Amino acid sequence: MKTPELLAPAGDMEKLQVALAYGADAVYAGQPQFSLRGRENGFKTVEDLARAIEYCREREKLFYLASNTVPHNNKVLAFQKSLAEIIALEPHALIMSDPGMIHWVRTEFPETEVHLSVQANTVNYISAKFWHDLGINRVILTRELKLREVEEIIEKTFPLEIEVFVHGAVCMASSGRCMLSNYLSYRDANQGNCNNACRFPWEVKPAAVELHPIENDNPISKAAESTQEGVIVVEEDQHGTYFMNSRDLCALPVLEDLVKIGVASVKIEGRTKSPYYLAKSVQAYRLALDAIAKGEKIPAEAMQAVFDTENRGLMSGFYTSQDPIPQNLSAAKDIQAHAEVAAKITKYNSEKGIATIDVRNRISLGDNLELFSPEGNKYFTVTNLTNQKSQNAEILHPGLKNCEINMPFSCNELSFLVRRLQKTKK
Ligand code: SF4
Repeated sequence: MKTPELLAPAGDMEKLQVALAYGADAVYAGQPQFSLRGRENGFKTVEDLARAIEYCREREKLFYLASNTVPHNNKVLAFQKSLAEIIALEPHALIMSDPGMIHWVRTEFPETEVHLSVQANTVNYISAKFWHDLGINRVILTRELKLREVEEIIEKTFPLEIEVFVHGAVCMASSGRCMLSNYLSYRDANQGNCNNACRFPWEVKPAAVELHPIENDNPISKAAESTQEGVIVVEEDQHGTYFMNSRDLCALPVLEDLVKIGVASVKIEGRTKSPYYLAKSVQAYRLALDAIAKGEKIPAEAMQAVFDTENRGLMSGFYTSQDPIPQNLSAAKDIQAHAEVAAKITKYNSEKGIATIDVRNRISLGDNLELFSPEGNKYFTVTNLTNQKSQNAEILHPGLKNCEINMPFSCNELSFLVRRLQKTKK
């Protein structure tokens, strides 16, 4: 059994550093205009990407350039120019989805490795073989597949590399092929500008009440009450109706199966998520993959790390038939992470035992906090606080920067201060 690569999102340089520090083998990132993260994307220029690629290379980690938008005619030349500049920097692979652009890269830069983006919606071995024959080195399968389908694709396409998503938000559409956001707000999901419209609260109204009166024997109202297959059961809570808002993917329960069937890479979604979310998610899958490699059970800390982050409720997606996809998320508002970030550490003075911090949530003298760092988790009590004006303080409020806190353990700018929360509903 070969341990798959752990692939993490890098929305900016800080997140890239966090992902690698907490155990990712490879990261993916791309420019706002040519990858599917048009907003909150820190890699605006070719120079930004050059620094990122160099940073990975120095640490013998892999950098994949996400170039997976589908360009309209007026963007083709700019896309090609940008790609040529970045290919010269030698990223380890490009992640692409547009067949024409892929063909152009294969022709002009035959040495460049290309991974087929999930946006190309590959769901069977014949399509995967087709892309392999065209020179694609790796296919990222769509999320809408069962484990046995993934296994069959791997068996029938060897030595093609297969990558799958294991963690993060799930699209209600077939992996991003969606016009909802574009229709509602002129933000095209296929150009990297999705507004997550499927997660809004929605209301169902009869289109023409006089034509479809809701009566007891009316087929529509009967269907709504039915629990038969094919009927979407719409539930509501006090916040509204969320019938298009999928729970988040967490494939830890099936990770060992994915390793056994031979996936080459397991991928975490979320270039716009916070550095803390990224650190916890990467830590969880690193712990799990390392345990599986040693023939051990996935440790409880891996699941704990996942629950320490905000989520919309977790599921193992389409991988197992035991876990059908509950798209209704009436419980989403009641889900609370088991921990919160109290502060991000920006500097550490080892001689004085003091850390400089940016405060995210209120910190008081006497608080029991956890130092969450790439080296592990340690606990301490807050005995000294200094505010941004270097004055002693009893409380530090959210948003304050350049404050100081006593810190009995060594740490660095990739570390966080975390507060455990009661596991109660909001
Ligand atoms: S609106 Fe929802 S379904 Fe559509 S692309 Fe965005 S996340 Fe996917």
